[in-house]
Amino acid sequence: MKEVTPGIYQIQLPIPNPYLKYVNIYLVQGNSGHLLIDTGWNIDEAFDSLKKQLAEIGISFKDITQIVITHFHPDHYGLSGRLKRLSRAKVALHNLEKDIVDSRYINMDDLLRQMERWLHSNGVPTDEMRELQRASLGMAKFVTPASPDITLLGGETIATDSFNFKVIWTPGHSPGHICLYEPAQKVLISGDNILPTITPHVGRHPQSGTDPLGDYIDSLNMLKKLDVNLILPGHENPFTGLKPRIEELLRHHKRRNREILAAIRAEAKTAYQIAAEMDWIPDVSELGWQDLTPLDKRLAVLETIAHLESMRINGKVDKFSRDSLIYYQLN
Ligand SMILES: [Zn+2]
Ligand SMILES: [Zn+2]
Repeated sequence: MKEVTPGIYQIQLPIPNPYLKYVNIYLVQGNSGHLLIDTGWNIDEAFDSLKKQLAEIGISFKDITQIVITHFHPDHYGLSGRLKRLSRAKVALHNLEKDIVDSRYINMDDLLRQMERWLHSNGVPTDEMRELQRASLGMAKFVTPASPDITLLGGETIATDSFNFKVIWTPGHSPGHICLYEPAQKVLISGDNILPTITPHVGRHPQSGTDPLGDYIDSLNMLKKLDVNLILPGHENPFTGLKPRIEELLRHHKRRNREILAAIRAEAKTAYQIAAEMDWIPDVSELGWQDLTPLDKRLAVLETIAHLESMRINGKVDKFSRDSLIYYQLN
């Protein structure tokens, strides 16, 4: 636990993910109750760590009156149900995330069937299908979803005694992702929308909306206009320099678009074929597609589709279907 700016504490909680290791959640102190932004995975290790870190500044769960969730992913939303029961807190979540929660974490059969059709039509071979389709299924057990008391649309203010956070809807990484902006303090709580060195995942899938990458780029361009001195991200550590980081992310996505266009210069390909040719672990040149985990492969395919669909909307690529598979080609 670290006070990153007066009145706001960064709490790192462990997550069972070898790359990310920790999620950051933030506690905002208030005289008449505290605000918690995100909650961590629903594992005892995270729960115990949170309890201990809060105790360091004399806070117990019942002193938390508001919980705001940046997006529905297990590392951010997982403990919400448990914390809501133990505190007096009202839980706030974006309207679009609320709709996803049920199909992701409670009644999953429909989504599994949709995902299978989606992956199949985008070229995932039959022998890899089961693994890729079910890759995130295990995550449901790390989430006890709290039904939100407040559904957000963006534009609301989340107030404590000393802070007024403006809710900014930033779709892309997830459809109802939100960031919180404190204009007087020039602080931006960025969730997974902007991280200091990791490029946030943006994938096109049955629940993503039609152009998640376009949405993501729009949300970056919108955030670029804010006056921000300190960014508090969902992973890694607080950082400064919002505009240069956004420029870097925009360049990354343009580079990926160019790589994808190059991959289909000679012939039409499925999203899976394109994804399998691309470099997903650029720092380790000897590692290739075969070294990715099933979940990483799935994320890579969904990310490739996000790029292809975004370029299709912009008229750069076209798609057609042959033998129940979708192929992309240059326009
Ligand atoms: Zn996330
Ligand atoms: Zn995350």
